[in-house]
Amino acid sequence: MKAEIISVGTELLMGQILDTNARFIAQRLAEAGVDHYYSSTVGDNEQRLFDTVKRAAERSDIVIITGGLGPTGDDITKETAARVAGKRLVLDEESLSAMKERFERVIHRPMSENNAKQAMMPEGCIILKNNNGTAPGCIIETDGCAIVLMPGPPKEMEPMFDESVMPYLARRSGRTLYTRELRVFGIGESTVDAMLADMMQAQTNPTIAPYALSGEMKLRVTAKCADKAEGERLVKPIADEITSRLGDAVYSTDGLELYEVCAGLMRENGATLAVAESCTGGMIASMLINVPGSSEWFLEGAVTYSNEAKASRLGVKHETLEKYGAVSGETAREMAEGIRKTACSDIGLATTGIAGPGGGTPEKPVGLVYIAAASDKGTVVERLDLGGSRERIRRSAALSALMLLKKTLDAE
Ligand code: AMP
Ligand code: MG
Repeated sequence: MKAEIISVGTELLMGQILDTNARFIAQRLAEAGVDHYYSSTVGDNEQRLFDTVKRAAERSDIVIITGGLGPTGDDITKETAARVAGKRLVLDEESLSAMKERFERVIHRPMSENNAKQAMMPEGCIILKNNNGTAPGCIIETDGCAIVLMPGPPKEMEPMFDESVMPYLARRSGRTLYTRELRVFGIGESTVDAMLADMMQAQTNPTIAPYALSGEMKLRVTAKCADKAEGERLVKPIADEITSRLGDAVYSTDGLELYEVCAGLMRENGATLAVAESCTGGMIASMLINVPGSSEWFLEGAVTYSNEAKASRLGVKHETLEKYGAVSGETAREMAEGIRKTACSDIGLATTGIAGPGGGTPEKPVGLVYIAAASDKGTVVERLDLGGSRERIRRSAALSALMLLKKTLDAE
C-alpha cells in the first residue's frame, strides 16, 4: 500500500508555521509498515490544490490531507477533494448536531452559518469524528484510492489519526496494529538508544520507535497482529524487557503523562500534597491540577520566588538563606518541610534553582536545581545539574520533582 501526504495552508509555504502534521503522519505510516513515497505542501489555492490532489490520487493508494477544513473562505480542501473524486457535498445531520452540541457545551455561543458549512460532507464518505474541535474529518473512497481529510490543528488531527485513521489503515492493509507507549524520563536519548540498540536492530514485529520530547522520551512498541490479544502477547515481552533494562526511568507503560501517574498514586495512597516552587514557578501545580479530581489530594501550591517569601510563607530560616543561599539543598529541604507543615499535608514537594540565562556563578552555575520531598519517612533532597534553555531547565526541574514524588509514593 502506497501512501502520500498533502499539507494544505499558505502559512506553511510562507514559513510561518512548521509542518508538524506531515512529520507525525510519516512516523505513524512507518510504524504501520505503510510505504510513504511522496509528501507535498500546497497553499490555499483551488487550482493548485486540485492538481496536487488529482496527481496524488492517481499514483497512490491512500492520500492523507491535513488543513483547510475550517469555516472560512480560504478553507477549500473538502470541496476540492470531493471534486477530484467526483462527489457532491451533502449535509451530514449527525455532524451538524455534534457541532451544535459542541457550541452549546464547550464554546458557549450560537453556531454561525459559516460553521454549518463544516457539516457538508462528500457523498458516501466515512466521517471521522472530531472530539477536540468542530470540523469533522472524512475518508472519500474512490476506485483504487482513499482520500483522508483531517483538520489542520495538531491537537485535533493527532488524536483523530490515532483513533480513526490508524485502524482504517490497518483494516485496509489487512492487519491490525497494536501499540503500547512507554514513557521515559531521566535517561538521555542517546543512552536509551545504546541500551536498546540490539533490540532495535533485531526488530521486525513488534517494532520499537523512539521519539524525543522536550527532556523526555516516548517509546512506541507496535505489533502487527490478528487481534488485540495477539498484539498484547507480542508487545508484552518487549515492553517488559525495555522496562527491566531502563528501570525506574520508565514511568508509564500505557502512555500516561508523569503527572497522571503521580495523580493515580496520590489517590491510591490516600495521601495529600502541597508544593512550594521557586524556579518552576507553578509548573508542578499546574501539571497536577490538569488531572480531574485533583482537589481530593492537592491542597496547595505556593510560588515562593523571593527569599522573603521563602522565609515568611514557608519558615525557611534566615540563617539558612544567608549561609547556604536560596539555591541549596538546605533551602530546598526547609521549603519542602515548611509547606508540608503549613499546609498540613502528608507530602511536601519543593524546587529551587537557577533557570538562567543569567544569574549563574562558578559555584552555582545555570541549571543547578535542588528538589526535595518531605513525608513522615523524612526528607529526601536531590541535586540536579540541568542544561538547555530557561524553559527546558524549568520543565526538567518540574518533571524531576514529579519523579521524586513518584519515588516517595512508591515507597509508601
Ligand atoms: P486549517 O485547518 O487550515 O484551518 O488550519 C488551522 C491551523 O492548524 C493553522 O493555522 C495551523 O496553526 C494549524 N496547522 C495547519 N496545518 C498544519 C500542519 N501541516 N502542521 C502543523 N500545524 C498545522
Ligand atoms: Mg488553513
